[in-house]
Amino acid sequence: MATKQFQAETKRLLDIVINSIYSNKEIFLRELISNSSDAIDKLYYKSLSDDSVTFNQEDYYIKISVDKENRRLKISDTGIGMTEEELENNIGVIAKSGSLDFKKLNNLKDGRDIIGQFGVGFYSAFMVADEVTIVSKAFGSDKAYKWESEGIEGYTITPCEKESVGTDIILKIKESTEDEDYEKYLDEHNLKSIVKKYSDFIRYPIKMDITKSKPKDDNEEEYEEYTEEETVNSRVPIWERNKNELTEEDYKNFYRERQYGFDEPVKHIHINAEGTISFKAVLFIPERVPFDFYTKEYEKGLELYSNGVLIMDKCPELLPDYFSFVKGVVDSEDLSLNISREMLQQDRQVKLIAKNIKNKIKKELKSLLNNDRENYEKFFNSFGTQLKYGVYSDFGQNKEVLQDLLLFYSSKESKLVSLEEYVSRMPEDQKYIYYATGESVDKVDKLPQTEFVKEKGYEILYLTEEVDEFAIKMMGSYEEKEFKSVSSKDLGIESGEDSEEQKESEHKEMFGKMKEILSDKVKTVRASERLKNHPVCLANDGEISIEMEKILSSMPN
Ligand code: ADP
Ligand code: MG
Repeated sequence: MATKQFQAETKRLLDIVINSIYSNKEIFLRELISNSSDAIDKLYYKSLSDDSVTFNQEDYYIKISVDKENRRLKISDTGIGMTEEELENNIGVIAKSGSLDFKKLNNLKDGRDIIGQFGVGFYSAFMVADEVTIVSKAFGSDKAYKWESEGIEGYTITPCEKESVGTDIILKIKESTEDEDYEKYLDEHNLKSIVKKYSDFIRYPIKMDITKSKPKDDNEEEYEEYTEEETVNSRVPIWERNKNELTEEDYKNFYRERQYGFDEPVKHIHINAEGTISFKAVLFIPERVPFDFYTKEYEKGLELYSNGVLIMDKCPELLPDYFSFVKGVVDSEDLSLNISREMLQQDRQVKLIAKNIKNKIKKELKSLLNNDRENYEKFFNSFGTQLKYGVYSDFGQNKEVLQDLLLFYSSKESKLVSLEEYVSRMPEDQKYIYYATGESVDKVDKLPQTEFVKEKGYEILYLTEEVDEFAIKMMGSYEEKEFKSVSSKDLGIESGEDSEEQKESEHKEMFGKMKEILSDKVKTVRASERLKNHPVCLANDGEISIEMEKILSSMPN
């Protein structure tokens, strides 16, 4: 049988996968196990729509076996298998995902279950193996096929014998070199720990024969070895597990496994709620803005499970818009589902859960702000704008939820501060929370209007984002302290010096002349007691600042 050449693109991609995509070789096992799990899932989905397929949980598993002498590592599954054609198309063509096609073809809303989508994972096997063999028998077929490849050069497909439906992936593990140890991929204990690390929540049992030893007969001195088949993954979804048994690393792995983001979350929230409605949830606050966050394509939502069965991939009703960056899963046994189990009969339960979740996220963000400022600021730099838009929308209804989570740059502290911090520092005679707007901290800092307030010793919040002033206006006040622009007419600060009126009349002639020259560029020219080092500044009398006016007039109406 002639060796089939990989397509040219395949060769190039293959090279990239083997040498550059993964920083850690051990993930090949995660990829192969994910494929096996997908293959079993596919049979499971078939059983939902096809009465001739019965799905007995215990018949479905993944088995990992090692033959040290011959340097072989085998990953077997009792999944759906592959036909000759599928071996050709899904394995022979890199970047083609049979699993993605399957999801599309079956219109799976809960496609999340099926992990594969990029069509490159399989090739990661070549990071540790110099020869890969697939023996597969597809469901519904009586023929089995063998796919063999030594990597970049190509592959062969030949008919072969295989008793049961499913797939065996057999890797011939590379010889160790001075720089790279490959023996560890033949070491069952190491393999077991790789499985635990990456694939612990795979729903099907991952079995391994683990070598153990026990005293020989009654002789306590001599030991004999024996093997015992073990299921090495814990299978229980993370949200079902006890918080106290989980490490930070477990949560991070879950975040990665679910492909919530390429960053590391700044915080996880594990909820186990009981009461009017009981549910469990594991939520994450990401660190960085997803690349599509500000596009129409971005969909907010949480995965929604009922009793461990996925109902909705992204349930948007569970999150308010201003928390749309939150990722995670919710599982509740109290949901009433319709027959197809794709939809909820009533949204009362969802509303209850959503309310609970919203309060919890708020509480956790607040505690992050108070106890881990560095991480909070990372978060705020990514999603602060979203929170401010949240305050602005809904006619200020969200004020209560969000006002304590906002940070603004402070003239006094030269860093971001919360409103709570600002107010707690206010001298007794200070009536207002002062703010100044401008393009950047630097520019605002130089505004003549800020001088007077600063000299008085009061703190000023610098609003440098377009949405800032809108949010502040929507809030109106914080803890009964009104917000006040440093450019507004009445600053509520008494000055001991000559009144403005007095100066006004002293220099009446000059002001008149200035107004004449500037004509309709300004409304009026008058004396101000606020200026210290600057001779002049622009101000406006109205409700909104010059900056806000600029934004408003640039908006399409
Ligand atoms: P992905 O999983 O992202 O689709 P892979 O490169 O990991 O990409 O796998 C490519 C395709 O090969 C899968 O989509 C699937 O159709 C098929 N495949 C891989 N492993 C198996 C397996 N164990 N059983 C059945 N089909 C498999
Ligand atoms: Mg895959």
